[in-house]
Formats: sequence, C-alpha cells, structure tokens
Amino acid sequence: MTDTTTPVRPGRLIINGEAVDAASGRTFTTSNPATEAPICEVAEAGAEDVERAARAARAAFASGPWPRMRPAERQRILFRLGDLILEHGDELGRLETLDNGKPIFESRQIDVPMAANCFHYFAGWATRLAGETLPVSPAFFTYTLREPLGVVAAIIPWNFPMIMVGWKCAPALAAGNTVILKPAELTPLTAIRIGELALEAGLPPGVLNVLPGPGGVAGEALVRHPGVDKVTFTGSTAVGQRIMRLAADTVKPVTLELGGKSPNIVFADADLDAAVRGAATGIFYGKGEVCAAGSRLLVEASIHTEFVAKLVERAKKLQPADPLDPKTRLGALVSEAQMKKVLGCVENGVAEGARLVAGGRRQPVDGKGWFVQATVLDAVENRMRVAQEEIFGPVLAVIPFDGVDDAVAKGNDVLYGLAAGVWTKDVKKAHAVARRLQAGTVWVNAYNFYDAGMPFGGFKQSGFGRDLGPECLHEVTQVKSVWVNLE
Ligand code: NAD
Repeated sequence: MTDTTTPVRPGRLIINGEAVDAASGRTFTTSNPATEAPICEVAEAGAEDVERAARAARAAFASGPWPRMRPAERQRILFRLGDLILEHGDELGRLETLDNGKPIFESRQIDVPMAANCFHYFAGWATRLAGETLPVSPAFFTYTLREPLGVVAAIIPWNFPMIMVGWKCAPALAAGNTVILKPAELTPLTAIRIGELALEAGLPPGVLNVLPGPGGVAGEALVRHPGVDKVTFTGSTAVGQRIMRLAADTVKPVTLELGGKSPNIVFADADLDAAVRGAATGIFYGKGEVCAAGSRLLVEASIHTEFVAKLVERAKKLQPADPLDPKTRLGALVSEAQMKKVLGCVENGVAEGARLVAGGRRQPVDGKGWFVQATVLDAVENRMRVAQEEIFGPVLAVIPFDGVDDAVAKGNDVLYGLAAGVWTKDVKKAHAVARRLQAGTVWVNAYNFYDAGMPFGGFKQSGFGRDLGPECLHEVTQVKSVWVNLE
C-alpha cells in the first residue's frame, strides 16, 4: 500500500471563523478504509456546538456583512474559493482518498474540479439573482425581490464529501445565506479543509460553519433548531424521512436528495461497445457508492447473452487496488459495515435466484481494507430485492427486457426515480424513452455526467427539490412581492 508519510492534522470544528474544539472536548477517530488504520482525531460536535454555530450563523446573517455586501464582492470571494480548491487539489484529493477509499484518480480528476466548478459557477449567480417587475395595475408599481432564507443547514453523506460541500454550500452562499455544514462522520476531512480555505478566500466569520459529528446528535439538533431556516440534505431515504418529520415542528423547508436504483437501459440497436463501457462505469465508478449508480442494467433480450459476456470480461479486469495508486480504478468501500451490507445483498440476490457471473467477494489489498470485487448478477427479475433495494456498492443486477414498453415499465417499476440511462442509435426512441422514464436525470448514450449548471435531484422516493443549475437557487431563496401605491 502506498506510504502516506505526511500526517493529517486533527480536525476541528469551524465556528464563527475559528477552528475550535467541541464544547464537550470529545473527539472521534476517522480511519482509512483501504488500510483500516486511523487517520486522525476529529472534534465531535454536539448539541452545544450546534447552539454556538447557530448563534454565529444568525449573527452573520442578521448583522454581518455577507448578505449586505455588493453581490459582485460576494462573487469575487466565492470565485476565489473555487480557485483555492483547485490550488489545493493535490492535498484535498489525497484527504478524500484517505478518508473515503475512492481512487486518487477520481478524487483529483473528478471530485476536486467538480467542487471548484460549483463555487465558480454559483459565484456568477451572486450578481444575477434578481426579482421581476410584474405589470399588475396602472395604480401600482409591483415588483418581486428574491431574498436569501437566512441560516441554511447542509447535511451531507460520505460518498462525495467534497463535491457535496460544493453542491450544497455554493448556491446557498451565493444567494447571501449563511451556512452550517455537517459532513458525514465517516468522511469529515475535506469539508473541514474547505471550511478553512473559505476563510482564506475572505468569507466573513460565521458565514460558513463546519460541524463534524454524529447524525443522530449534531444532525438532529440542526434540524430541530428554531434558528435554522432551511435544511438541505443528501443521504439515505430513511434519514430523509426522519428529517422531513422533524422539520415539520418548525415548518422548515427541506430539500431532500435521497437514494436511487437507477435503470441503465441498453437497446439492441445501441453501439454495444460504448454501452458496455457505460454500463460498467455506471455501476463501478465511485465503487458503486453513487446515488445515481446505474445499478439495474436492463438489456434487450436479443443481445443479452453477448452483452453480459462482454460486461463480465470488463468487470473481471477491474481489480480492487491501492486507492493512492494513480492507476487504480476500483477503491475500498467506505467502511466495514458498508462492505458487509453489500456482500449481504449479493448473498440475498443469489438466494433469490440471481446468477453470480462476476465478483461477489471481498478482496483485501495487501491483506487489508474493505474492498469488494466488481460484481455482476445476471438473470435478475425486477421483483427481486436485489433489483428493488439500493445496495450502494459495485454490484450490478442485469434484467432482460423485450421492446420499448417493457423497458419503460421495468425501468419505472421501483420506488426511486433519481436517474436513468438509455443506449440506442435511434434518436426518436431515445427522446421518447427519456420522456417516459420517471427520473430526475436521463443520460442518452452516456452515464454519470454532472455539471454545476445542470439541475440534479429525484422523482418519487428519491426526494424533491433540486441541487445545481439555476433551478436550485429557488431552494435557497424566497420571493417577496412589493406593491407600491402610485395614486
Ligand atoms: P445517511 O442518510 O446515513 O447520512 C447522511 C448524512 O445525514 C450524514 O451526515 C449523517 O450524519 C446525517 N444523519 C444521519 N442520521 C441523521 C439524523 N437522524 N438527523 C440528521 N442527520 C442525520 O446516509 P449515508 O450513509 O451517509 O449515505 C448513503 C446514502 O445516501 C445512500 O442511501 C445514497 O443513496 C444516499 N445518497 C443520495 C444522494 C443523492 O444525491 N440523492 C447522493 C449521495 C448519497
């Protein structure tokens, strides 16, 4: 395993522009899923720290410079933060890989640029957010103001820790809100580092506070807190449901980005080699710990045997390896618990009658780590649990279908609706199927493409509200209607 000689500094909370210990003095250990070794201690936020952060964020919103500053100045600071993320790309990429187990290739080539892209893109919106003048009556001058909500709590998961900081914080900050960010307890390091870089970029104290800590304590305290005006959450459907219930007590708006079981649909008239690549990256990118993973591969029956053979060949070539090696394309799952859950799902799938045609086992690297082989289960029926429940690992369920109607019916026959893929050379079919799929994102002859400028979010139980794109600015602002009597 590649040596990691530079020790990682202990992580601290960021409250009111300062790195501080938890009020309780408690810390927790974050560890490297590839080596099972501890990385460092991190301050563990509790209810008292949520109180401190909520006070700081409120003060920064109510009387601090951030919401009152010229939008062009907010833009400059957020743009600078995007630049600083890129300048610290090697460091941030390494931290992400140590904490999460994803290949350094992904951390540095995808996660760092995507996080920076969010701050660069939404910086531009700071000067573009505007109300409208709406002609209602000659007796009135009527217009709307688009205003920030106040204090936004962002609660994020462990699979894309750094990217999620960008998705959640950049638009909220651009609109003039202040933010309390709670990273997942398994992966707090890059969020803390970006919190420090934000101060270096010139964000005033209290505008971005970072509280690593357990979801059930720090997360819940944020959701319940009457001084928090909005919760934006990405994570599991179960926790999303709980947040929605808790938020009702203070009538807090929520944005929920939840799980998925996305169909990647390959028609017989597709470019099959491209589709095989797309099917493999659709599920194996990010170790399959991707909410939008193409975890159900729907293949037209006439090409099913040939397609699965090619896919299996590709899956077998994709070997788990040291995530710090730039050549590695399959890293370690985030934790032992996640690995056990994934292996349990594979076992269930086989017990339900699916055929294991690739992988399916743990494969430690140098005798350590929560690595799971690239796994393909064939002959899956859509009613099986392995086809319906999110696995969140490198496990693909292959389901044959016959014709467009069957593809659409099977594609939609699931509680989730986050994303879908369609592979065909027939343009009409591609657009028609894209319209009929119940999914927040549809990729045609592609999979797993994201950009700060393109909205992302779920249909059905994958959640509601949108991250990214102009659309997400509605999630972090509110509209005020002003009537001026002219008579
Ligand atoms: P999780 O729901 O357990 O945790 C997500 C975050 O919520 C963490 O920060 C956690 O500390 C916090 N949390 C946990 N319990 C809480 C509570 N009671 N109150 C407030 N906060 C609480 O999910 P996870 O295990 O971190 O991530 C994996 C899940 O997230 C998967 O199901 C995946 O599909 C989903 N996910 C969805 C998207 C998306 O965009 N829709 C993106 C990534 C991950």
